[in-house]
Amino acid sequence: MTVEAAWWSSLRDGAVRCELCPLGCRLNQGREGPCGSRANVGGRMAATQYGRLVSAAVDPIEKKPLYHFHPGAAILSVAAQGCNLHCRFCQNWTISQGRDASSSPVTPAQLVARARAEGSLGIAYTYSEPLVWYEFVRDTARLARAAGLKNVVVSNGFLNREPLLDLLPLIDAANVDLKAMDDDFYRKICKARLEPVLRTIRLCREIGTHLEITNLVIPGYNDDDEHLARLVDFVADVGRDVPLHFSAYHPAHRMDAPPTPLETLRRAAALAKRKLDFVYLGNVRIRGAGDTSCPHCGELCVVREGYATRNLLSDGNCCPGCGRKLPLVAA
Ligand code: SF4
Repeated sequence: MTVEAAWWSSLRDGAVRCELCPLGCRLNQGREGPCGSRANVGGRMAATQYGRLVSAAVDPIEKKPLYHFHPGAAILSVAAQGCNLHCRFCQNWTISQGRDASSSPVTPAQLVARARAEGSLGIAYTYSEPLVWYEFVRDTARLARAAGLKNVVVSNGFLNREPLLDLLPLIDAANVDLKAMDDDFYRKICKARLEPVLRTIRLCREIGTHLEITNLVIPGYNDDDEHLARLVDFVADVGRDVPLHFSAYHPAHRMDAPPTPLETLRRAAALAKRKLDFVYLGNVRIRGAGDTSCPHCGELCVVREGYATRNLLSDGNCCPGCGRKLPLVAA
């Protein structure tokens, strides 16, 4: 089900320029982009992974992770193959970097029908990098919105401004991966750059898309206090109410640094809590590390054990202790 891509222009001799992400690839005829999702087919840019799902499962929304968007809801979560980053530590590399995962064809209408049949909150575009299968996300999100479903993206945020501005109004919630507050890290470890990711995060906030941020903490790469402080300062500048998830790394793909020690995660959380209201630890079992407490009175509002969620909020999103409204989207 290959369809013509959006966001490209013609060059001489049948080549095309992709204008979707900041890499701006020039592709000669027959060539595929490094994201594995777009190719020059006969002098036109094709979205080669359109509707080719390599994964589809109903997940707790906490697994995205989104902790402040319909806590406890289940959401149909899907992926096609491909990613425009090439992180050495990728935890999902078989579908983000692989080129031979078996896929099942699905149309946007079929996917929306399945989400409704499953009683899902909506559709989460996740696991690999959804923004490189942009056209499928866009077409499905339009239908899902019309059907009263929510659209969620879990993304590396490495996209050009214009495509993002077109897509974001259809997206209800985003978790953006901020891999490091360091352009060198992005260049050397991910083959990308930092600034476009920061721009995406700011744009989500400006447009009003519900936003949460994840940082995978890798020992020896992005875990020193000075670096963590810069990351926290940036998130605090976007909004002290933006939930920040520090996630534990485990050796995968092309990185063999040791797993993140619990002590490192605790140190990151302590540092972040000086400036942010909601800091969570993920990929580990630390009692209380996934709970939401009221930043005003400290009352427990949402309890999370693994992916089991106990919602104690009152009147949708109010603290059960002091009654104040929390920055949390609930039914
Ligand atoms: S989306 Fe893919 S083809 Fe387009 S610029 Fe980025 S990596 Fe290159």
